[in-house]
Amino acid sequence: MIEAVLFDWNNTLVQFTWDEELLVEGHRAALGRDDPAFTERYRELMLGGGPQRPYAEVLRELGVDDPDAFIDAEHEVWRPAHQVLGSAQALLESLRGRGVKTGVVANSWPEPARLLRADAEAFGLAGLLDVMVFSDEAGAVKPEPAIFLQALEQLGVEPANAMFVGDRLETDVQGAANLGMTTVQALWFAADDTSARVEPDFMAFTPMDVLNALRRVAL
Ligand SMILES: [Mg+2]
Repeated sequence: MIEAVLFDWNNTLVQFTWDEELLVEGHRAALGRDDPAFTERYRELMLGGGPQRPYAEVLRELGVDDPDAFIDAEHEVWRPAHQVLGSAQALLESLRGRGVKTGVVANSWPEPARLLRADAEAFGLAGLLDVMVFSDEAGAVKPEPAIFLQALEQLGVEPANAMFVGDRLETDVQGAANLGMTTVQALWFAADDTSARVEPDFMAFTPMDVLNALRRVAL
C-alpha cells in the first residue's frame, strides 16, 4: 500500500531551460554590469565538468563579496525560464485526495534550498507538498539513502510504502530502488538515456501515468 509519493524537482515537477543568454543576463543583474571576463572564468569553474563545489565558494573565488546577494539576483533572472509541469497541481491534489502524502527530494545545485523553496511557493506547489528535502540542507545527495530517508522519516512512512518519481535513472530510480521504494521514471520533460543497470518499476510518459502506477501497486 503506497502511503507517500515523492518527486524529484528539476525535469520532473519543473523544467529549467538554461542557455548562454540567461548566463550573461544573470551575471548582469548580479554584478550590476556586463563583465565578459567574469562570465568566462565562471564558465571554466562552474561548467568545466569538474567536481561540483559549493556555489558560494566558487563565487568567492571569482571575487564576489556577497555570494548570497549574487545568487538571489541571478535567480530572479532565471526564474521565468522555469516551466512548471502543467498538471503538477492536479496530480498532487489528486494524490492527496487519495490520502497519499506528497513530497520533493532533490539535489539542489547550484542553487540553495532557500531559493528552491521560494520557487515552490511562487509556482503554487509548496502548499501541496508535505515535505521538501534538498541536498544542501540534508547533507546528502541522491542516490544516497540518507536523503530519501530524511523525507520518509518526516512523513512517518516506510520506504516499502513509498513511491519515487524522477527523471534520472541513477540518482532517482536507483537511489529509491536501493531502499525498496517503488520507482517511476518521469519521461515527460526528459528521457534519461544513460545505460544504468536499473530499470524503473513503471515508466510515466504523462503525469497521469503516476496515478496508473499507484493503482497497479494497490491491486
Ligand atoms: Mg531531475
